[in-house]
This record gives sequence, C-alpha cells and structure tokens, in this order.
Amino acid sequence: MTQRELFLKHVAQTSPFPLALEIEKAEGCYLYDTSGKQYLDLISGISVCNLGHRHPAVVTAIKEQLDKYMHVMVYGEYIQSPQVRLAHLLTSVLPSQLQRVYFVNSGAEAIEGAIKLAKKFTRRHELIAFKNAYHGSTNGALSLMGDERLKQPFRPLLPGVQLIEFNNEKELERITKHTAAVIVEPIQGEAGIVLPSENFMKKLRQRCSETETLLVFDEVQTGYGRTGKLFAYEHYGVIPDILCVAKGIAGGMPLGAFIASDTIMSTLSVNPELGHITTFGGNPLSCAAGLAVLHTILTQKLINEITRKQNLFLSLLKHPCIKEIRSKGLMMAIEFEDFEQNKKIIDCCIHNGVIVDWFLFNMKSMRIAPPIIISDEQIKHACAVIINALNS
Ligand code: PMP
Repeated sequence: MTQRELFLKHVAQTSPFPLALEIEKAEGCYLYDTSGKQYLDLISGISVCNLGHRHPAVVTAIKEQLDKYMHVMVYGEYIQSPQVRLAHLLTSVLPSQLQRVYFVNSGAEAIEGAIKLAKKFTRRHELIAFKNAYHGSTNGALSLMGDERLKQPFRPLLPGVQLIEFNNEKELERITKHTAAVIVEPIQGEAGIVLPSENFMKKLRQRCSETETLLVFDEVQTGYGRTGKLFAYEHYGVIPDILCVAKGIAGGMPLGAFIASDTIMSTLSVNPELGHITTFGGNPLSCAAGLAVLHTILTQKLINEITRKQNLFLSLLKHPCIKEIRSKGLMMAIEFEDFEQNKKIIDCCIHNGVIVDWFLFNMKSMRIAPPIIISDEQIKHACAVIINALNS
C-alpha cells in the first residue's frame, strides 16, 4: 500500500476531503512534497510556523535541549530551565498584570485552563463568547464556539454560555455580575479576519471591569507578531486579565500557555491542590523552541517589517473579482463572491505551488498568513500566482 492509501485507511480523518499533500521536507517559507514539488507556504501551518519551517535558531535550541533532557516530570514539579527562561522572557515583554505563565500543549488547552481559572477566581460560572468565535475543539472550548453547526452534535456542552455579537456595543450589557469571563479573539480569525471596530475593545474592557468579570484574550492566532505587534491587544489600548497563546509561540513545536496576574493564577494551586494539572505542559523541547522563537522575534526586529509587507501584499492584490481584503499585519482574508469561486482559486494556487486556504466560518474568503520572514520577492511571486489564478 502507498503512504497515501495507509493515511486514508489508518489515520483518523477530520473531513472526507483532506488536502493530502505528501510532505517530504520543509525549510523557510517552502514545503516540498514527495515528488520534489516546491510549495510557497502562505498559511504557516495555520499561523504556527511564523518564523518559517525549521528556523535555524529553533532547530539548534531543540537539538541542544535534546542532548540534556526531554520529559522528566509532569508540569509544575521540577525546575526546568527552558520553561523558567521562557516564562521569564515572556513576562518581561508583558505588562505587570500578566506575570504568571501556566504552560500547556495547545490552544484549546490554554482556553480550558482560562475557563477553569476564571470560574475558580470569580466563583461564578457564566461565560460569554462571541458569534463566529473559534477557541478550539475540546468540550469547554467548543462550548464557546460561535457556530451552532459544529456544536450541535456534541451537546450538552458547558451550561451558562451566552454568545454575543462581535462589534456590537449594545450587546455588552449582557455582561453582568454573574459573568465569570468574557473570552474574545481580539481579531476574529476563523470568522475570516474580522477586526474590532473603533473602541469596541475599550468598551469591552470597561464593561468587564465594571462587573468584575475577567477578560480573556485568545491570542492563539494573533500572538507573537502576526498582526504587526507582539500581541494584538497592544493595538487596542487594553490589557486582558488572562492571555491565551499557542500556535506560533514555539516555531512548530506543541506549546500553549495561559497567563494571568499572581493574584488570579494563585487560586489555581489551592483548594483543591492539583486542581489543574498536565503531564506534558511546558515540555522542555517545546519551551526551548519557544525561547528561540521569542528571542529571534525580539532581537531581529521582525515585527517592524510586518506592516510594510502587509502593504506590499495589498498593493499587489488588486483585481475586480476581489470583493474585499481584511487584514492586520500578515493576517489577511481576501473575500470573493462565493465559496465556489474561492475554492477554484485556492485549488489553482495550490496546483501552481502556492499554499492558501479558507476559514472555518467564512468559506468565501481566502486565508493568507505567511511566515513573517517572507521576503518581498516571495510576496511578489505569491501575488502573481493568486492574480493569475483569478484570471484563469
Ligand atoms: N483559538 C484560536 C483563535 C484558534 O485559531 C485556535 C486554532 N485554530 C485555537 C484556539 C485552538 O488551538 P489548538 O488547535 O492548538 O487547540
């Protein structure tokens, strides 16, 4: 049997239509399949490989750590240098309210941790999330999902969850003294890159503070530079009570975290003790990779280049078939007439060696989230392939 046949037979499938590219290797902004075909990656494994594939600093950090130790103990018990150094560097670039990092393995787990933390700290159980939000596929995160079609078969989910409309200030009145937390993506990703309107985040912050509700920012997609700032909250002049990160923070290794103040986070370690634990959270290889990613982003000033690269994309992506482009930094959605047109263009781009994708909740928009190290030449090539697909 071929690998493809074995993949389809034995690896659990997430849909009947996997992309099924057979990857041989990946380097920088490129993937290579088993036939040797080269693909320019414009989606970074869905906003993960922000420094490209196998960034040398990340590879070196993993190799060095590999020679020392891998898993030695469940999260929280032993002092492990990669974890401590990453928590130290990360908190040094965060405001004084966000100084305690709880490491987990994924975005959904960061959200699960934030939900439990908010319930425990506030002694409330009601949660508010937004329509078209995506926070992960586990039961708690799924309870916050803003799309009924994906939730329905899995009910009952968490009780006491309300979904409100993003960018609708009137809806903020539904946040009350009974709300434990509001969970929000500062820029909605899977909705197809929906930016908050002027002042919405400030009003949200204000309402949460008034009602002593914890504000949780899901920066799993926006985190670490993608939007032109290290974190998206910096664009909007607000600071969340809990910050969730994952995806891009460890250069392709599995790592997530939820971050809060000492006062909030300390409630998780008592009454009961060990009320929230994880075996692999903060895995030393992942944290070593994470440290290399953050160090590289900060020292190479990669973030300073992002808005210029965004503008280069925008200047080249002009075509009558494009209805709208929504973007913040290198997090972009190109909207077409309908799903059929979008799918045709995406298929054509992939066929021509440029990987693009759509969004979970916005099937007529094309996802562009390239590694932030992408060069001007690569951007020009990518845009030429997209325009070519639109003309064909
Ligand atoms: N939050 C957001 C905003 C996401 O985009 C995702 C993943 N697409 C998640 C959470 C869940 O992350 P993971 O798949 O690592 O569980």
